[in-house]
Amino acid sequence: MMSRILDECAAARSAGARRSFEAKNEAGAALQIDISPVLSKYGDREPIGTLAIVKDVTEKNRIETMRKDFVATVSHEFRTPLTLISGVIEMLRMYDDLPRADRSRSLEMLEIETERLKKLISELLMLSKMENRIFSSEPEPIDVAKVLGQVAAALAPLAEKKGQSLELSLNLGAASVRGDESWFFHAVQNLVENAIKYTPAGGAVVVEAASDERDLRIAVRDNGIGIAPEDIDRIFERFYRADKSRGSETGGSGLGLAIAKDIISLFNGEITVESAPGSGSVFTVRIPLSREAD
Ligand code: ADP
Repeated sequence: MMSRILDECAAARSAGARRSFEAKNEAGAALQIDISPVLSKYGDREPIGTLAIVKDVTEKNRIETMRKDFVATVSHEFRTPLTLISGVIEMLRMYDDLPRADRSRSLEMLEIETERLKKLISELLMLSKMENRIFSSEPEPIDVAKVLGQVAAALAPLAEKKGQSLELSLNLGAASVRGDESWFFHAVQNLVENAIKYTPAGGAVVVEAASDERDLRIAVRDNGIGIAPEDIDRIFERFYRADKSRGSETGGSGLGLAIAKDIISLFNGEITVESAPGSGSVFTVRIPLSREAD
């Protein structure tokens, strides 16, 4: 490494021109090395030396790769539903006299796929808002019981459709958490929606909320399909979906948990999960209570 830099310095000096290159050091860090000849200010044309600037670009490269992967994944996620949509449109155009049942099945497909795209877009917007810390309001005390009630009300039809019970069990003191209420709603909604989605018909979903003197804890419990140990560490990654072979029937983008985790970390809290295949899952949100309100 050092000898390469010295060689390049000598080359820069004799050519009187800048050189740059990237290399890895012994510890595996990516370095960018820029070498420029140093000229005397008294006008000698011969350089009096060389200046080598060595920058550690490991982090920059990592972020760059992540950005590229992200763009590739997002494009792919968009392309799949769009391909389906344009296929269905083409078919509808080709067959004027499609039987009623086929026609309504096609329209249903168009509806499902456009919904999926709409959801994907709003989730991406949400991620970008969170990254840029764009809050829709000042941190305010959140009425946790009210928000959980709203989540339950919003998702009751979904649970009902699957013949599942959706139960709230609240044991909250007077203490409150502060933050953006709509973010909070969104995070809990994602967890409860997952509990319903990944639990077969007839199952049970319970949301328990309790606070002690330090923390608010919300546990979202289901008796659904559960999560395999090899997936558990990865489900919070963007676009990660366990068991992709299950196909599109449950229809998610794999962004829900990544968003929920980001939101809860804005509240200085954390989400943990306990789960085993076949015996359901418990997602627990822990948020420190805010003190300054009292
Ligand atoms: P999506 O639900 O859109 O696929 P999420 O980020 O919300 O994306 O979840 C990521 C993955 O984690 C899901 O695809 C699913 O495999 C798994 N998962 C999340 N919640 C549950 C749950 N309650 N039970 C079983 N698996 C779950």
